[in-house]
Amino acid sequence: MQTKKLTIAIDGFSSCGKSTLAKDLASQLNYIFIDSGAMYRAVTLYCLRNNWISGDQIQITEIINALSTISIEFKIDDQGNKSISLNGENCENEIRQGHVASSVSRIAEIKEVREKLVHEQQKMGEKGGIVMDGRDIGTVVFPHADLKLFVTASIEVRVQRRFLELTQKDIQMTLDEVKDNLVERDFIDSNRKESPLIQAKEAILLDNSKMTREEQLQWVLDLVAGKEGQ
Ligand code: C5P
Repeated sequence: MQTKKLTIAIDGFSSCGKSTLAKDLASQLNYIFIDSGAMYRAVTLYCLRNNWISGDQIQITEIINALSTISIEFKIDDQGNKSISLNGENCENEIRQGHVASSVSRIAEIKEVREKLVHEQQKMGEKGGIVMDGRDIGTVVFPHADLKLFVTASIEVRVQRRFLELTQKDIQMTLDEVKDNLVERDFIDSNRKESPLIQAKEAILLDNSKMTREEQLQWVLDLVAGKEGQ
């Protein structure tokens, strides 16, 4: 019997392991994995390179006018590694740097930026068989997703996880800087006017503070098994 190809939406706070979970799930299920945050980061990088962000000043009109010239794609290399490209250039590492992390939530507040990226994300998910993580996936991008998860973890655990991830990528940030960035982004993301981060009504809450990567994957695979048969 052919199992149904599901659409799985994973939302939650910064650095709670959403992308890791989404990647693991997609690989187990042979689904597409999309890190929607990377797309907001790529747009932010483009804006930074054009000097449209300076301190608290954001040149919104220039950004909106340039949106049609920004092309974002996910590519897979011969080793199976996935990376994001901005107008053809691999920017996977650069979008994780502190300067992008500090500005991304301000760019993600812009309605027109969201409209463009949501449209592209919806196209990627047209055929189902997709796991996408972000902040508005279950509420806006895929409101009819088959499975919605809202992931959270304690702030201490999230800071440690992000710090470790950055260290592994050779990106220099102190623990305090990582914490300040997470707290600030969570605040902006949860309080913005356009598509704020909220738990969708049907979303299942997953607090993975005390779970290993394997435990959280198994926990969700059990949920998926229930949905595939429906
Ligand atoms: O997931 P990640 O931490 O890389 O996301 C970076 C930022 O992009 C978030 O803090 C948020 O401001 C924005 N974002 C968003 N909607 C999404 C995904 C990310 O607003 N679906």
